[in-house]
Amino acid sequence: MFDYDVMIIGGGVAGAASARELSRYKVKACVIEKEEDVCCGTSKANSAIVHAGYDAAEGSLMAKLNVRGNQMMEELSRELDFPFKKNGSLVICLHEEDMPSLQTLYDRGVVNGVKELRILNKEEVLEMEPNISDNVYAALYAPTAGIVCPFSLNIALAENANVNGVEFKFDTEVEDIKRIDGGYKLMTNRGVYQTKCIVNAAGVYADKIHNMVSEKRIHITARRGDYCLLDKSAGGHVSKTIFALPGKYGKGVLVTPTIHGNLLVGPTAIDVEDKEGTNTTREGLDLLIEKAGMNVRNLPMRQVITSFSGLRAHEDDHEFIIGEAEGAEGFIDCAGIESPGLTSCPAIGEMVADIVSKKLGLQKKEDFIATRKGVLDPSTLTKEARAVLMKEKPAYGNIICRCEMVTEGEILDAIHRPLGARSLDGVKRRTRAGMGRCQAGFCSPRTMEILARECNMSMFDITKSGGNSKIVVGTNKDTL
Ligand SMILES: Cc1cc2nc3c(=O)[nH]c(=O)nc-3n(C[C@H](O)[C@H](O)[C@H](O)COP(=O)(O)OP(=O)(O)OC[C@H]3O[C@@H](n4cnc5c(N)ncnc54)[C@H](O)[C@@H]3O)c2cc1C
Repeated sequence: MFDYDVMIIGGGVAGAASARELSRYKVKACVIEKEEDVCCGTSKANSAIVHAGYDAAEGSLMAKLNVRGNQMMEELSRELDFPFKKNGSLVICLHEEDMPSLQTLYDRGVVNGVKELRILNKEEVLEMEPNISDNVYAALYAPTAGIVCPFSLNIALAENANVNGVEFKFDTEVEDIKRIDGGYKLMTNRGVYQTKCIVNAAGVYADKIHNMVSEKRIHITARRGDYCLLDKSAGGHVSKTIFALPGKYGKGVLVTPTIHGNLLVGPTAIDVEDKEGTNTTREGLDLLIEKAGMNVRNLPMRQVITSFSGLRAHEDDHEFIIGEAEGAEGFIDCAGIESPGLTSCPAIGEMVADIVSKKLGLQKKEDFIATRKGVLDPSTLTKEARAVLMKEKPAYGNIICRCEMVTEGEILDAIHRPLGARSLDGVKRRTRAGMGRCQAGFCSPRTMEILARECNMSMFDITKSGGNSKIVVGTNKDTL
């Protein structure tokens, strides 16, 4: 009668981590995602910081999962082969009178279980990071903070879940949910499915999905954060993640190297009505440039290569909601997953899988595959090994993206691996083709040709990111 034991709504990091942890069990599970790929929501546009865990309130679920997620990330990055680095973070205090706020963060971190926290004086800060403003008074140093590639994290979790038996349905939007005997009926734009359990990991839409089944309403505000991404030539401006002292709207504007060597400045915090409203504004970008300059001097803002924004799923009580929804047995919320959701996702997955496995009485499987290899980057090989690879597979000798030096071989791998890329952004998130200084100006047509050839599609059907985001338009299809 049931199509699945569990259906997970949302293929962001929360849904993918839940899917991966559930795939340790004998279970018929499926992820439903309205977009054409995983990592298309908030998980693709954030600061990519693996937070140490001193921000969230003592005793909150957010604090617990943040610290646990931080502790799990290093081993997970080895198992699933995604880039992660513990670069450490500094919270900058500019005025002596703000020292009590810095001390509060330190004390909270200690209570939350964050290890190795230290308050540094001005000289220690400047020795560690010479480009911090001369106005610095002190800073909170958290060596356990890190930076991660959010795309690779999300994709790795999903791929590994898929290899372990979890199905993925893309371009499939949940439109309504009805309670049935022993489970739920999901009405989607691509048909109706019956499942015993649901995991609601729908990001900014998690309130909408929750309110389909529970009388106890929740409300999520989309809180936009704008960013500027700077060229790799600016990536060494700071080596640690530099935070401002948090204010009413959260952690404030940060400056950080990215895991791939760029410099990231942002985010703002602007509440918006539109849950798809990821447009940046001039005012937002001006504001973040001004604020970032207060803590870090001589920011090379002429090196900006792109701007973007992401939407935080801000729940009214600013807490993760993970557990069975009131009056909706077998419906497990994974809602209000705003920052530090990326950091916490391994722990969120563990918690969701624990709840669902107990609910359904699931047994662990013996043949769970815990590891996965990412797309091979030939530049990580020795010259000799690269030569052998190119001889065996000449596509690894054909550079497609000149800025990021991505080869045809990597793009072929991205397309043909489990849950492979079907769009330009899908290739970009798996290989970095198009992420460099020219922002895909040069490589787009070449990547499109490979996608068309390998997926047996017309150039007219290749999209930037699914849906109507077609790149080639017109009527004369015979010319291509
Ligand atoms: C500006 C900003 C900065 C941040 N910085 C950090 C940071 O540095 N460190 C950190 O730890 N966290 C950070 N976060 C938070 C982190 O990015 C999120 O907590 C995390 O990505 C949320 O993942 P998710 O899976 O819950 O949501 P999402 O990634 O949004 O995934 C939800 C998915 O559900 C799908 N969906 C929605 N409705 C439906 C439907 N009806 N049917 C089918 N599918 C549906 C969506 O398409 C989407 O793909 C930041 C967030 C923002 C916005």
